[in-house]
Amino acid sequence: MPLEPLEQSRYLGTPLPGPKSAALMQRKQAFVSPGVGTTMPVFAARAAGGIVEDVDGNRFIDLGSGIAVTTVGSSAPRVVEAVRAQVADFTHTCFMITPYESYVQVAEALARLTPGDHEKRSALFNSGSEAVENAVKIARSHTGRDAVVVFDHAYHGRTNLTMAMTAKVAPYKHGFGPFAGEVYRAPMSYPSRDGLSGPEAARRALAQIETQVGAANLAALVIEPIQGEGGFIVPAPGFLAALADWCTANGVVFVADEVQSGFGRTGTWFAVEQENVVPDVVVSAKGIAGGLPLSAVTGRAEIMDAVHPGGLGGTYGGNPLACAAALAVIETIEADGLLGRAQEIETLVLGRLRDLKDPRIGDIRGRGAMLAAEFVDPATGEPDGALAKAVAAYAHAQGVITLTCGTWGNVIRFLPPLSISDELLSEGLDVIVAALKEI
Ligand SMILES: *Cc1c(COP(=O)(O)O)cnc(C)c1O
Repeated sequence: MPLEPLEQSRYLGTPLPGPKSAALMQRKQAFVSPGVGTTMPVFAARAAGGIVEDVDGNRFIDLGSGIAVTTVGSSAPRVVEAVRAQVADFTHTCFMITPYESYVQVAEALARLTPGDHEKRSALFNSGSEAVENAVKIARSHTGRDAVVVFDHAYHGRTNLTMAMTAKVAPYKHGFGPFAGEVYRAPMSYPSRDGLSGPEAARRALAQIETQVGAANLAALVIEPIQGEGGFIVPAPGFLAALADWCTANGVVFVADEVQSGFGRTGTWFAVEQENVVPDVVVSAKGIAGGLPLSAVTGRAEIMDAVHPGGLGGTYGGNPLACAAALAVIETIEADGLLGRAQEIETLVLGRLRDLKDPRIGDIRGRGAMLAAEFVDPATGEPDGALAKAVAAYAHAQGVITLTCGTWGNVIRFLPPLSISDELLSEGLDVIVAALKEI
């Protein structure tokens, strides 16, 4: 633990970036690939609660959680203790060589926490992309079919297969082809833009899938129950259930990519629960281990058992430090009532955003602590990416970490750690309100 706890207040003591960050940025430019971009020009020194402190001593309100990762807070006390104990015991043996209990414990916990009370098995990996790839491998092995259906605005990662599955070309795919084959895209339910009910949007998507792919060729339908990078799009009620029912009727594996929406972020363990859908396979990552790299594929036993022994794995998958962290994350969410905390954050943030009654905010949406405001031209309803960018830049300059998202970059997303106080959260929102007044 740091000797002094990180003070939970916003503080700007230097111009941004401060001198130490500026010097580090010069070294980054000299030695780090420019392909790896950064949202803010400040380098982190510490983070906890609702604050990130930079190397110059500036303190930022964290409305991003490192992209929905530090859901229980950065360096959450139980995570620190669990990792500290594990690092002293052993750092790695490779689960495929000499296994260890914590990996099995994580799989047991995932069987308990993911939707449905059927028999389940899990396999652990390092990143969200890697887990999505493995979910597709498993679905293909189980069904003996090739095709995969994904949706407009989807984000599934940056590896070759997951680039093919991701919708947006810039920055994720530009110049990086050729991409993996047998990936097909269907229209998403986007209530504020298409005006369709969930069942109507599902009929539209399924009609296209049946005519352009054919159920008999389809191994898996992969969908984010609430889309992340694509704009925090919450499909209309009944959309996911209709797709899941169709998958069941046609022997297609329904894969919920809960990498961003899972692990307590939306006020339930998994966002799909709020649509009363039980997926065949659930993919977890981001919030699962409090910042240590871990991801998981959890599926029906009969699907997971289709893969031949040795067909899944990887050197680091389910690393013991990451497994120890994940068990501590689960304990923290349960012991500290963090699902309820996510619901409180939803009430607070949505209330503030709705009170604004700003015609440039075309839609306010999300669940739990996964919330967003979509900016539009009030006259035409066209996406206003420039406004979202300006609001984010204003917030950054005022010491608030905010992220944008969306196919047109016109969405500000709110992903605070569940360890943030109401005071800090409100102060962060005050800055967003001030930005909208000023711009
Ligand atoms: C972030 C993300 C991924 C990719 O995860 P990485 O760990 O960055 O590979 C996949 N799916 C969704 C929904 C995500 O938000």
